[in-house]
Amino acid sequence: MRVRLRVRVRVDFGYGAPMLEVVVRPLWREFGPERVSAAAKHAKAGGIAVVKDRRWSLLGDAGPPEDELAPLLVDWAIRAIEADRWAEVTEGPARGCVEAKITRDWRERVQEWIDRDRAFPGATTEATFDCTLCGACCYDNKVVLDEEDVARFRAGGRADLLKRTSRKGVLRLLPLLRTKEKPCVHLQRNMCTIYDVRPNMCRDFPVGTEQCMTSREDLYGTPFPAGK
Ligand code: SF4
Ligand code: SF4
Repeated sequence: MRVRLRVRVRVDFGYGAPMLEVVVRPLWREFGPERVSAAAKHAKAGGIAVVKDRRWSLLGDAGPPEDELAPLLVDWAIRAIEADRWAEVTEGPARGCVEAKITRDWRERVQEWIDRDRAFPGATTEATFDCTLCGACCYDNKVVLDEEDVARFRAGGRADLLKRTSRKGVLRLLPLLRTKEKPCVHLQRNMCTIYDVRPNMCRDFPVGTEQCMTSREDLYGTPFPAGK
């Protein structure tokens, strides 16, 4: 059965008083092909299991049976490896897990996540992120606008932002990325200058995803706030 993994969870970072966000994030663990039951147990406890056979697979909890959405950070782990196919496992020891193939391009990065998470026991760990003060995700972004964004720009008196969009197929792109080293053109001193009308992709981006931690690591040398 194919699982729909579109999520729409608004994360309002807010600006003003520094905001610390506590996230229970899944830990990446590796398992041999003979240990699928243990891998599934890890996934159902909230972790991300990587089953290493000739092909590598990601297993995460598929969520409640009546729910079409996998848990948020599982969904984003699948996005992090840019998997274009995923499915709920409907039989065998991994029943109730969502499975996605990990392509060769992603193995090195996935191994880094597995190695990083060896320091933490269990299937999940709590991490505290200083989201308001960070803005690291604004350095490496590909923001695609939807119709709601377009309407918000217009209603917010910022139709001028639409003049700068480019198109790729049916997608309308807001050119936020100047170079790999420089952030979104709308980020100044770690503050979003179009915060009130910022696109949905910026609003939806969840704290504690691999994409968040990778952005932080690229910018600060560590995925975690100092002292965490
Ligand atoms: S990189 Fe993570 S912690 Fe920093 S602003 Fe983005 S979502 Fe928040
Ligand atoms: S529009 Fe704002 S929130 Fe979105 S990437 Fe740019 S600075 Fe960050």
